[in-house]
Amino acid sequence: MNEDGSRRWIRPKPSHGAWWHRRRVVAYALMALFFIAPHLRLFGKPIFLMDLPHRQFTLMGYTFLPTDTLLFMFVLGSGVIGIFLLTAFFGRAWCGWACPQTVYLEFLFRPIGRWFDGGYTGSRNLDKQHAWFTPRRIGKYITFFLLSLFVSHTLLAFFVGTENLYHWVLTSPSQHPSAFFFVVVFTGIVWFNFTYFREQTCLIVCPYGRWQSALIDRQSVIVAYDATRGEPRAHGVAHRDPAAGDCIDCGACVQTCPTGIDIRNGLQMECVHCTQCIDACDDVMTRINKPTGLIRYSSQDAMAGQPRKLLRPRTVLYPLVLVVLLTSLVTALVTKAPADVTVLRGLGAPFTEEADGRIANQIRIKITNRRGTSEQYTMTVSGLAGTDLKPQDITVVAPENPLVVAGGATRLTSVFILLPRSAFTAGERHVDLVFTDGRGYAETDGYRLLGPATGGAR
Ligand code: SF4
Ligand code: SF4
Repeated sequence: MNEDGSRRWIRPKPSHGAWWHRRRVVAYALMALFFIAPHLRLFGKPIFLMDLPHRQFTLMGYTFLPTDTLLFMFVLGSGVIGIFLLTAFFGRAWCGWACPQTVYLEFLFRPIGRWFDGGYTGSRNLDKQHAWFTPRRIGKYITFFLLSLFVSHTLLAFFVGTENLYHWVLTSPSQHPSAFFFVVVFTGIVWFNFTYFREQTCLIVCPYGRWQSALIDRQSVIVAYDATRGEPRAHGVAHRDPAAGDCIDCGACVQTCPTGIDIRNGLQMECVHCTQCIDACDDVMTRINKPTGLIRYSSQDAMAGQPRKLLRPRTVLYPLVLVVLLTSLVTALVTKAPADVTVLRGLGAPFTEEADGRIANQIRIKITNRRGTSEQYTMTVSGLAGTDLKPQDITVVAPENPLVVAGGATRLTSVFILLPRSAFTAGERHVDLVFTDGRGYAETDGYRLLGPATGGAR
């Protein structure tokens, strides 16, 4: 903020040094991945699809169904611990190199904005000095709007799939009002963010910067100013005091900072580790024939002359937790059956007595087909060995047996099991329900049928 409380508009001067070139390669690769990913398929499925209408999540060819909460928890947990581990080692590498906010702002919207604005002028208040609605500005807004539209449509494809997206784009919004509403709102948010809000998203909204004090330690990699070498700073290069440090107080590191801070004040929450100040200062050092690296990737301990320690509590604990989570995930994936069967008791009376005296139990069966192809599931009843009952004493009445379930789908059906009254002892009879799909899948679920407490006696 300015002293009067108004917004301090930040127009960072780009520093096209070695780190900027490396980040640009990563940024364009990530953008390409984002735009191409919805169209990529693995094992016939999208590599990433958060299918909200069907409550399914597909990742790298594997579809997590609503019943896969445990698996999904392992995936999410691994992701969170992975970020913790990355942060413990490399500080805010995510912010500077991979966060969509930084990637799109610094390598897409900001360069285009500079082109429309006529480049960097050094004025922090250019946005205020210029009228908001000059032809160039309007051109910028329209270009940003089209880009925002493209970004929001691509994002929607991650939730509904590209087939739906193509169809919806070519049909009236009245046929898909929710998706249309999402695109309108998200386009507005993206446009507002990159046109107006910009660095404030990192400074005010994003919680990740605030977690840093908890996630990094003194050994974590940070972008740091070497005060021992740079101080006491002395303005300019002519007539320098031999006792002065290497910082010539040129301000290049501040002018290039996209969050408007001075890295020489030490590690700050606002620093997104974008390395622009490294590039700016290296350029200055090269021009005054000093070694580069006055601002560099380092750590708080390294700056204080402490040795590097790879093994710290968090760099030991996080990998251990990660190994446990990933092992659990792989084990659960490998041992996961190709179908989920849930047997539920029927609604209403626990059992009914038929006219011929047999006892009928209604049960509800929910089958989720985890395979990608349509399957037929057959249910049989067994588990009567050691009793007087023979298989022909059991009758299964089902609207469909086998039950056809499409790939990835779930179906619920109601089934009646009829047994002679004499089959019940103390009001119940244990049976085994066996489900097979004819392709090697077989599952046996024990079930307690209910009957009259008097058993065979009337
Ligand atoms: S201080 Fe941090 S945010 Fe600012 S230019 Fe340097 S690395 Fe980037
Ligand atoms: S760019 Fe380097 S020399 Fe210039 S003010 Fe920043 S730290 Fe000092």
